[in-house]
Amino acid sequence: MKAVRFHHHGGPEVLVHEDAPDPVPPPGWAVVRVRACALNHLDLWQRRGLERVTIPMPHISGADVAGEIVEAGDSGLPVGQRVMLQPGLSCGRCTACLSGRDNYCARYDVLGYQSAGGYAERVAVPSANLIPLPDHVGDVEAAAFPLAFLTAWHMLFTRANLKAGETVLVLAAGSGVGQAALQLAKAFHARVIATAGTAAKLDRARALGADAVVNHREDDLVTAVRRLSANRGVDVVVEHVGQATWEKSVRCLARGGRVVTCGATTGHQASLDLRHLFARQLSLLGSYMGGKGELLAAANLFFNGVVRPVVDCTFPLTETAQAQIRLESSEQFGKIVLLP
Ligand SMILES: [Zn+2]
Repeated sequence: MKAVRFHHHGGPEVLVHEDAPDPVPPPGWAVVRVRACALNHLDLWQRRGLERVTIPMPHISGADVAGEIVEAGDSGLPVGQRVMLQPGLSCGRCTACLSGRDNYCARYDVLGYQSAGGYAERVAVPSANLIPLPDHVGDVEAAAFPLAFLTAWHMLFTRANLKAGETVLVLAAGSGVGQAALQLAKAFHARVIATAGTAAKLDRARALGADAVVNHREDDLVTAVRRLSANRGVDVVVEHVGQATWEKSVRCLARGGRVVTCGATTGHQASLDLRHLFARQLSLLGSYMGGKGELLAAANLFFNGVVRPVVDCTFPLTETAQAQIRLESSEQFGKIVLLP
């Protein structure tokens, strides 16, 4: 098959479109012909190399896949069935997995992280990772859905325990997680304040349902949030920016507020004034991916048209480097999708 691989860490130039062996599925696993594969920041970290993480080489990235089944494994689904994939891989036998918390499994992995992913014509996955697609959902939209909406769902509802009527601050609404969190919070009757760095992106955020928007390049975030919340602050901050915004995110919280973070794209060192933490009874929550059942719950909203992943643009698989450069430069609004 054709695949995009890297043989060593580096910039976008290490991504090579080349022949690679077809995946050999373990017993029970399925093989999917990839029709669309969305990019994630995780793909960039893998390519650059991570401290204390060994990425198998040569490596095929890609966590977000839609396509059709070519080998059905023990799924019971027909060959040719259109599917999108659960991006989480886990042992399936431990206490966490059997409690529906598979993203807490000691052997948890993300498709295309330490396993071969979807930057290829074919990918092998456990049969439990196949999610059949309804006819009205296209491959590109389906590939844009899983990781961002799973992450946002787990952050908002499982970790931050968001309630109807609460106010959520969504940082970088044009990011994959941002657009997903904005839509999910609105679907659950929260009020959403969204941030972005350009007027065009703020318009897109409003069109997606944001009640108020803040240009984080022009306005001070804390001042703007106080103004937009009658000086009260917000109940939940959806964080994934990291060092550049962390202190402001904490200062934006109302009493009893929660910051929930799933990433640190601008750096991972942050400081905290402990007086705010206890006196205002704040909670700081980490979040990583989500359970398979959570993705199915989110997918139900997607298939019924309540939420819809935003696709920024598509690239042919041969132009994967250009696609990653666009993601790296934060020019996008929504998901960038490869077409193998
Ligand atoms: Zn497990």
